[in-house]
Amino acid sequence: MTCDSVLKAIPLYFYGELSPAEEESVEQHLHECAACARQMEQQRALAAGLDRRRAEVPTMLLEDCRADLMAAIQGGAGAAETPAASPWKLFLHALEHSFSNWTRYRQPVGAVALLAIAFFAGRFTQTQPGLSSASLATPSEPAFSTVRSIQPDTAGGVQIALDETRRRVVSGRMDDQNIQRLLLTAAREDNPAVRVESVDLLKSHSDSSAVRDALLNAVAHDPNDGVRLKAVEGLKPLAADPDVRKVLAQVLLADNNSAVRMQVVDLLVEHRDDAIVGVLQNLMQKENNSYVRLKSEKALKEMNASIGTF
Ligand SMILES: [Zn+2]
Repeated sequence: MTCDSVLKAIPLYFYGELSPAEEESVEQHLHECAACARQMEQQRALAAGLDRRRAEVPTMLLEDCRADLMAAIQGGAGAAETPAASPWKLFLHALEHSFSNWTRYRQPVGAVALLAIAFFAGRFTQTQPGLSSASLATPSEPAFSTVRSIQPDTAGGVQIALDETRRRVVSGRMDDQNIQRLLLTAAREDNPAVRVESVDLLKSHSDSSAVRDALLNAVAHDPNDGVRLKAVEGLKPLAADPDVRKVLAQVLLADNNSAVRMQVVDLLVEHRDDAIVGVLQNLMQKENNSYVRLKSEKALKEMNASIGTF
């Protein structure tokens, strides 16, 4: 066996996941190779450190975690009836972060078992604040842990360095500057559900120029239809503003969602100006939504403009 394949096999060996033949070749290699034997020692020290804490895990909790794991594997979500089931998500999250570059440990069951022990210990200490001195997460605030290094010491202990990202809950009123700043950041998050929610809250505060810019940016560039619709709603009070109209005109000509175009055409024809004529004439060349066509046609007629450009 090569050193590389032995290193891959060590966690599996440790948790009895290897076939007898594989076990034998690992053992043989460990006898001959000091570097790999050291790795094995580290594994042993790590497991010993974790095992000391595993001893206190109640069976019910293990059952619980197993159910959560099955739910996470099958449906991508924790068990529905346990609102505090998110520790599994935390664990899977930590796993993903810690091991995204450590791909060789991703699939093996043994490696998962190793991490699961760390996780059980973390979850267990969450319910026992007195034991939290070395826990992966404090009882009140979930933390996403990334393991940076593992150092066994000579006394059979181990030092594990973690980076933790802690989740905070910030609450306040909508007119709070800090809340608004956070909502503006949320309007650029990857998660479209978060963007819809934040634009929905921001839309009643379009008197702030930062909010106005965020709404304009969302209506022109957000890939999510729901976010763009909310942003159009928020721009309603600003439909007479020339800068806003310029952006809305571009959206009317470019947006492929007819619900968005319907909202935008309503806003634009409500406040008429000369620039709108050209936009509507352009639109009539290609618009296939009958509501948008009707609205545009009516507005052009009322402005005594021809329906075609030529
Ligand atoms: Zn080796």
